[in-house]
Amino acid sequence: MKSRLLSVTLAGALATSVLGCGKSPESAQAPAAPVETASNRQYLLERVDDAAVVQIYADGFSGLPLKEKTLIWHLTQAALAGRDIFYDQVSARGLEMRDVLEAIVTHPEGVEPATLAEIQRYTKLFWINNGPYHDLTARKFVLACTPDAFRAAAAASAKAGAQFPVVAGESIDSLITRLQPMFFDPEVAPFNTTKTPPKGQDLLSASFNNLYSGVTSTEAKSFTSARYGLNSRLVKQNGELTEEVYRVGGRYDAQIKEIARHLEAAKPFATEPMARALDALIKWYQTGEASDRLAYDIAWVADRESPVDTINGFTETYIDPLGIKGSWEALVFYVNAGKTAGIKKLAADAQWFEDRMPWDPKYRKAGVKGITANAIDVLIETGDAGPTTPIGINLPNDQIVREQHGSKSVSLSNVLESYNRSESAATRQEFSWTPEEAARTEKWGSFAGEMTTNMHEVIGHASGQIAARLKGKPENFIKEYFAALEEGRADLVGLYFIADQKVVDLGLVAAADHADVVRAEYEGYTRNALVQLRRIRQGSQIEEDHMRNRQMIVHWLMASTKAIEKRERDGKTFYVMVDPAAFREGVGRLLAEVQRIKAEGDFAAAKKLFDTHGIHFDPKLRDQVLTRIKATNPPSYTGFVMPKLQPVFGASGAVTDVTITYPKNLTTQMLEYSSATRESRAAFLAAERTRKP
Ligand SMILES: [Zn+2]
Repeated sequence: MKSRLLSVTLAGALATSVLGCGKSPESAQAPAAPVETASNRQYLLERVDDAAVVQIYADGFSGLPLKEKTLIWHLTQAALAGRDIFYDQVSARGLEMRDVLEAIVTHPEGVEPATLAEIQRYTKLFWINNGPYHDLTARKFVLACTPDAFRAAAAASAKAGAQFPVVAGESIDSLITRLQPMFFDPEVAPFNTTKTPPKGQDLLSASFNNLYSGVTSTEAKSFTSARYGLNSRLVKQNGELTEEVYRVGGRYDAQIKEIARHLEAAKPFATEPMARALDALIKWYQTGEASDRLAYDIAWVADRESPVDTINGFTETYIDPLGIKGSWEALVFYVNAGKTAGIKKLAADAQWFEDRMPWDPKYRKAGVKGITANAIDVLIETGDAGPTTPIGINLPNDQIVREQHGSKSVSLSNVLESYNRSESAATRQEFSWTPEEAARTEKWGSFAGEMTTNMHEVIGHASGQIAARLKGKPENFIKEYFAALEEGRADLVGLYFIADQKVVDLGLVAAADHADVVRAEYEGYTRNALVQLRRIRQGSQIEEDHMRNRQMIVHWLMASTKAIEKRERDGKTFYVMVDPAAFREGVGRLLAEVQRIKAEGDFAAAKKLFDTHGIHFDPKLRDQVLTRIKATNPPSYTGFVMPKLQPVFGASGAVTDVTITYPKNLTTQMLEYSSATRESRAAFLAAERTRKP
């Protein structure tokens, strides 16, 4: 499972609510080399429509031992080798379309400038979304030039020497004609995936991804001889359903062989448990069998200590409306030791916090264990994991493995840092009552957000004891309010303890900064109850649980304390946090009540709390927020440019170092990635063509 951050602007607003696991606030991690610092370097590279393009940095890489650098290098090669698979899963025409676009972009000589600019815009969106569908809406986006202008551009590029993915006997002109509906017609294959198809249409037939071919959802569900879940495509051929298995010798043979080759090369540099996991993964790629997938999941979870790790395979099922087929993805990362140490400190002291929870002592737990997650820095994310990336990951998804062997959680530190650092100052200022408040958020917002997020995850959810008669299942009593109540409880734990001297004693924040950090967190939490209304375009009711919990907390504090004032200026509304001590006192009182509600399964009280404070809002206020947000023009999602690694070879041919640089250019990186897999892509497309009528 993944947590994603949908908008740069709301990084602060969402960090607490969507991060899958904890992060620590230790900012003392020194850069390994005297390079640019986090404060002066370039994060935001460009805007493409509603997408931001942002550079990711991995400062700790240069300081890693050679063995780990070499391991990472081989793993990133494996991550690149499978990148094309996901394009094909997203759309059956995805790879051909990308080849056409890249042919033109790399051979712009003679292309009419306005047409070229439009093709470049479209191509960047295509790269960011791994195909022609918007990552957030799943809706197809199209080229805004005319088909004739596009045709002329292709002809000019061909003249300049560009190679196009034509089939035997096909002219470039007929290739463009063949792909024209995909490039230009928004009504052709309009959705990549839809869970609510138009009336009368089938779930699968209305979803134009490439995980199924010619199959309806009824047929797929009644296909009882299915043997391969995540790693196969279900196809109807001559009236019969067959599974095309993703494995060596099966579908994506050329790509998977390359992945396996690089994983094999990585093994000598891995720790023993990691080498065992890599072996299991290679075996799964070879056989495709579910039993080997299970063995791999177990081996991967068993490796908890390796400083480097990878996720590589058919993993998440978000683009399959039936939730069965796995999208290919790969990530390579190392543990950010400084930040992980902060998380471990909280976990180690979980009982200290439990003993001081501001609720009735009978709800305090003995022997509480904090939840530990690794804070990591990613080096590469491909397939379903990049260029748009999650900020938290918890795997494996297999429920049986989770119950019997546990799971691993990571929070992507350097991704979150890039989100926060690329945030627009304009939006921050728009909703801050004073310039001092905006400055405090800029200075401390992400630091404080990380700290409360860690507490939310590590000591929040893990805390508290409930009445025995609930039999460990408070959700059966609190019902539809449970998720929001529990998220609220975990948020309140973070808000309560960030103001405690303990965080200074643990070395998580300097004594001199503590008051400012607390104030920035309380101000930001309050402000974001207003700003988050932008996410609800229709109606006057909030459904999403994380949003309900924030509304509930802020509006309860407004009604029950003097910590927050609602102010107006120039027709604009502001939520202003004015008294941190009153805020914390209120948080403690509310937390005691929320814990009581959970512990006693008090449905009526939960319902009243949310009905009064958490669900309803004034649509006029939302409209005002939308207008103000629109004026600051924040991106709605972000595509990340990864670091670039390069091995240095010694006289014997062995790797003597791996260097890291930052391309700061989406186009350069995407073209490099595509050229790295030219051969396996050609082999795959050729194989596809021979089997098509
Ligand atoms: Zn949570």
